Amino acid sequence: MKDIEMCACSFCGRPQKAAKKLIASPNGDAFICDDCIRICADIIKEENMKLRVFKDLVLPSPKEIKKSLDSFVIGQEQAKKVLSVAVFNHYKRINYNEHNKANKKNKEKDIDSQNVELEKSNILMIGPTGSGKTLLVRTLARILDVPFAVADATTLTEAGYVGEDVENVLLKLIQNADYDIEKAQRGIIYIDEIDKLARKSENRSLTRDVGGEGVQQALLKIIESTIASVPPQGGRKHPHQEMLQIDTTNILFICGGAFVGLDDIIHKRLSTSAIGFNANIKNSEEKAKLDYSKDVQPDDLIKFGLIPEFVGRLPIITGLDDLDDKALQRILVEPKNSLIKQYKQMFKIDGFDIDFDDDAIAYVAQKAIDLKTGARGIRTIMETKMLELMFDLPDPKVYDKIIITKGFIENGEPPILVEKKKESDAEAV
Ligand code: ADP
Repeated sequence: MKDIEMCACSFCGRPQKAAKKLIASPNGDAFICDDCIRICADIIKEENMKLRVFKDLVLPSPKEIKKSLDSFVIGQEQAKKVLSVAVFNHYKRINYNEHNKANKKNKEKDIDSQNVELEKSNILMIGPTGSGKTLLVRTLARILDVPFAVADATTLTEAGYVGEDVENVLLKLIQNADYDIEKAQRGIIYIDEIDKLARKSENRSLTRDVGGEGVQQALLKIIESTIASVPPQGGRKHPHQEMLQIDTTNILFICGGAFVGLDDIIHKRLSTSAIGFNANIKNSEEKAKLDYSKDVQPDDLIKFGLIPEFVGRLPIITGLDDLDDKALQRILVEPKNSLIKQYKQMFKIDGFDIDFDDDAIAYVAQKAIDLKTGARGIRTIMETKMLELMFDLPDPKVYDKIIITKGFIENGEPPILVEKKKESDAEAV
């Protein structure tokens, strides 16, 4: 082993005296100074950052995405399929463009062959309220581990009007990405109630329709690729405020709405074009058979009141079905975090097993259909019914099982309470 006084850093050559710290290798042949350790740590940190970005973009296949969706979203098979492929393609496209960019930097000569930029395809979901539109997008974001934000189109306004600026949608995404702009730039934004922005008249020469068309125009800017300036605290922009800059090129926008009346527009078009063949597609049974992913044409949406530029930015369209009582029953029970599983967990904390009779579940589903708010109705019904029970819990020293019956949900009859087995009983068995 060398005399440490005589040694120097094997990396930068700094002598021991000039370094704050000089660390010897186990065999004493090599040395590293504190400065070089710091530089090495920075290099590793940077490499890890790169790895993290790459890891974020590792993609499950469309089939795997759909399978994960199945654990949370009941039914809506077509929408799940369309979204799985669309989202997979979106992130594949980002990977491809990123590689392209890197290649371009490396091989300037090859620019032409590398130059095919893939454009993003945002998505439009058409389906009644409470059918799982928000749930689908939220779950997708979770599966892919990308930040996610929801906005309600009806609260948005053009800059300068009372309400929320569209940039605030981007702020929500940045906040949900813990202010990591890189991460936010690959996030998903869901804009709900987009149908409420429809122009009231197809005639564009009429006086400007501030509420709807103006917001569509404002949204168009962020949906297209742009570098947006976002006030970090939200609210209105102020002249001397520092802004966050976010590039929206890789943000996936998914818009959703019920589009009440759109089916009539489509049927009208179909029946006019079908004159001479089968012009009688009028009864409601036939109406229910529309497949939005195939049957909607841009013109239908323009007739409905979306501006053509906006429609052009949403090339992928999919529909969600009304949930019938069978689907609602499954929603109560099957998803990973179904309401019933949640109640079971809540009561377990208080020392009770809780069970729901099939009749009770069927009754809740039927009631939810009456409410016409899709699966949202389930929660409303359950919360009001279970509140009483939670307020007035049975004695956990005496009972350890509660069975919820149809009578309990329908008429507020007491639930069935099962007494705890006494220790002497247990021993007898
Ligand atoms: P939408 O956005 O279509 O109005 P949501 O996705 O907000 O409806 O649904 C409201 C709630 O209803 C969800 O949080 C979820 O608990 C439940 N829900 C709706 N549709 C489904 C579905 N297809 N599968 C499972 N749960 C659903």
